[in-house]
Amino acid sequence: MEKKVRVRFAPSPTGGLHLGGVRTALFNYLFAKKHNGTFILRVEDTDQTRFVEGAEEYIVSCLAWCGIHPDESPQAGGPFAPYRQSERKSSYRQYAEQLIADGFAYYAFDTPEELDAKRKEIPNFLYGQASRMDMNNSLTLSSAEVDELLKNNTPHVVRIKMPEDEHVSFVDMIRGLVSFDTNLVDDKVLLKADGMPTYHLAVVADDRAMEISHIFRGEEWLPSAPIHVLLWKYLGWEDEMPQWAHLPLILKPDGNGKLSKRDGDRLGFPVYAQNWLDPKSGDLTKGFKELGFMPEAFVNLLGMLGWNDGTDQEIFTLPELIEKFSVERISKAGAKFDFEKAKWYNHEWIKNADASQLLEVVKQEFATQGTTLNDDAYTLKVIDLVKDRCNLLTDFILQSGFFFTAPVEYDLTAVKGKWTTEKTAFFNRYQSDLAEGLTAAEMEENFKALATANALKPGELMLPFRMMLVGGKFGPGIFDIALTLGIAETKKRIAAALAAFDA
Ligand code: GLU
Repeated sequence: MEKKVRVRFAPSPTGGLHLGGVRTALFNYLFAKKHNGTFILRVEDTDQTRFVEGAEEYIVSCLAWCGIHPDESPQAGGPFAPYRQSERKSSYRQYAEQLIADGFAYYAFDTPEELDAKRKEIPNFLYGQASRMDMNNSLTLSSAEVDELLKNNTPHVVRIKMPEDEHVSFVDMIRGLVSFDTNLVDDKVLLKADGMPTYHLAVVADDRAMEISHIFRGEEWLPSAPIHVLLWKYLGWEDEMPQWAHLPLILKPDGNGKLSKRDGDRLGFPVYAQNWLDPKSGDLTKGFKELGFMPEAFVNLLGMLGWNDGTDQEIFTLPELIEKFSVERISKAGAKFDFEKAKWYNHEWIKNADASQLLEVVKQEFATQGTTLNDDAYTLKVIDLVKDRCNLLTDFILQSGFFFTAPVEYDLTAVKGKWTTEKTAFFNRYQSDLAEGLTAAEMEENFKALATANALKPGELMLPFRMMLVGGKFGPGIFDIALTLGIAETKKRIAAALAAFDA
């Protein structure tokens, strides 16, 4: 029988959620949904030294913003609860002991001081084949000595005993056959002195306990794969082993390294999904959300980092990504992150969104600036007029602020020096002729006709007119602006500007 598809996103709650992490969550989610499977959020919090308060809630909130809702999680519960590894602590020791009993692992009693001394003595010291027989562990001590140490609760860890001269291999869904030489892998700790499992033991125990069928995770975990394969085998679970796919790295725009938060800071773009306030340092790191990305655009651009559907199509909704997703089309090569391209995706999404879809977020943006927008019908018209000028949701402030607040200052560079009394007369006349019910096209016709009748070039009057209504040299068509502002407001703005221009 085909195994039911169950995938997990297994972040450690150690800080802000990197876009690579969201991409991992997304690919797991797409695969699950494509195959009518289950998407699980499992919190890997066994490393108490790296645990950060609030990080789990933050991860949950980032996923929710992206529209990724786990079927099973610490919050949603589920048949394999608990979904926080710290709450599963008591379940891991039995496996460490089983491995010891079967000769695949051993107790190690070396103190931190002893290990430090070894590291000083031997450069690049690795606890493994070459060194394990010189250390203080159940391979070198007699069983009576080990029993005594354990009876006295002597601090100890459990280490895997990496086999000599073996090749561990598995078939990665993206990379094909991957093989590792066991001589190059050290005896990783499986159970720590505090009784907590390390990532290696916990990840294997829980992937099995939660009946995980497929694992999509970052390429940075590939070096850990041989340890995991051996653990599945040593614990007698080989037949249940999930299929792995190690996703290509997301690379910095300049150079070949993995994109880090530091690269984002250096090049001026976000790397985290949402704002992250570090509870220890108090440092705030800006996220894509707060910078003005639509979640649909963020998900779309992440979906294209290392995957495409084989056509030129670049814009995908989440349901479309689910429908089209295929592991075969995930590339092996790292995907360069390009912030300009990210903004392009956002621009496409904003441009093609219904004004009603943007209404709430635009109102929120203005609210953060202290402006309350209460006329929804008017705001919707404004959004329609300016949305194709916005790359970021925050651009609405600059691009449409003048619709809500009349200009108090004018960019006069284009007007000064060329201003004449004829032009003042023209605008006085034009505004007194403005009547309710005119269309934008009629306003434009009247504007041109009046200019020609007064031997003025309409082209020389357009920019001053824009200055009067907008305050600067930007914005949509000026007669569309006038129509949206309404006759009364347009008249008012012309009068106010004339006073300033003539002053
Ligand atoms: N806890 C690991 C992380 O922080 C999970 C890696 C894996 O998926 O196996 O990414």
